[in-house]
Amino acid sequence: MLVLEAKLNGKTEQYALIDEAIRTALFVRNSALRYWMDNKGVDKYDLSAQCAVLAKEFDFAKRLNSTARQASAERSWSSISRFYDNCKKKVSSKKGFPKFKKRGNSVEYKQSGWKLSEDRKYLNLTDGFKIGRLKLVGSRDLNFYQIEQIKRVKLVRRADGYYAQFCVVVDRREAIAPSLRATGLDVGLNHFYTDAQGEVVENPRYLRKSERKLKKLQRQVSKCKKGSANRKKAIKRLARKHLQVSRQRKDFAVKTARCVVRSNDLIAYEDLQVRNMVKNHKLAKSISDASWSMFRDWVEYFGKVYGKVTVAVPPHYTSQNCSSCGTLVKKTLSTRTHACKCGCVLDRDHNAALNILAIGLSRVGHTQTQYACGEFDLCQLDASLVGKLSR
Ligand SMILES: [Zn+2]
Repeated sequence: MLVLEAKLNGKTEQYALIDEAIRTALFVRNSALRYWMDNKGVDKYDLSAQCAVLAKEFDFAKRLNSTARQASAERSWSSISRFYDNCKKKVSSKKGFPKFKKRGNSVEYKQSGWKLSEDRKYLNLTDGFKIGRLKLVGSRDLNFYQIEQIKRVKLVRRADGYYAQFCVVVDRREAIAPSLRATGLDVGLNHFYTDAQGEVVENPRYLRKSERKLKKLQRQVSKCKKGSANRKKAIKRLARKHLQVSRQRKDFAVKTARCVVRSNDLIAYEDLQVRNMVKNHKLAKSISDASWSMFRDWVEYFGKVYGKVTVAVPPHYTSQNCSSCGTLVKKTLSTRTHACKCGCVLDRDHNAALNILAIGLSRVGHTQTQYACGEFDLCQLDASLVGKLSR
């Protein structure tokens, strides 16, 4: 179990609604406790059933999501059972008889009453309090997990603002034999990537087809008069296509990332700044950047799953330097081949991928190894690094 936290950004009215939800959760907790005190032999399930009774009785309790009501009752049960345990253990001093709480600072939802946006940047609270959409600040880590893995969401009030805690179940750890291979990946506009072994992974044909269609639909939208019915229809078509393409792209990213991680012990890639990417207006470029950053997220995710090393390296001079001798060999964007005085002749992207791998290796604390152009063999490396890689 892992707890990821993000700060919530919203409007003052939304914060007031969170406060109301927190107050209600506290009310449910205290009412459950009261019920236990007043009735002998009440157990966990009776308390849970009591939540529904409260919802019928009080309108404000009804507004709180049913799983949040249950979570509050569970909280009250946990303080009751702690008391029972202390009694059984015959603790000599205080047994900790459960108390009513005057102030609460959190409300917990289980798997309903909330929704994360596709990009995991917004949390939408959908229960009767209608808190609505809140921006998540610092939620990057959320991208590594599937929605199903998030078992609970807790809204917490702190002195400096409101936070959301995501309780993530992470049991995906798969053992896999070391592949004795390391690689660097160079992103391209023409190819999806080129690796340090010189292998090229192309963009799948169905994606290229979808992207062409996307361009066409985009043109149709801009051709229609603003505010016209036809434009609305065109926008709808474009939006649907966007969704389809983004699903296809994700599918491809997941499969490719899984494959790369499984067949290498170390994966180095360029640390491209997403902010710079968004600024780029060229469609082809922005599409390639978007798929790349999604792919990278999945490589990092699978790196954790399979216990492999993933390194992001600064993207400087990776295409200009010679991967064999380190000399700067200037080339324009149209120069597709790297040819150095030292005799190293390589495809431009292959050379870059080798450079990326070299920087990646130096970043994991190893700088001595020199290797020739072409095949890269992990056997050349120190035993110490191999240990690190297969961890
Ligand atoms: Zn050279």
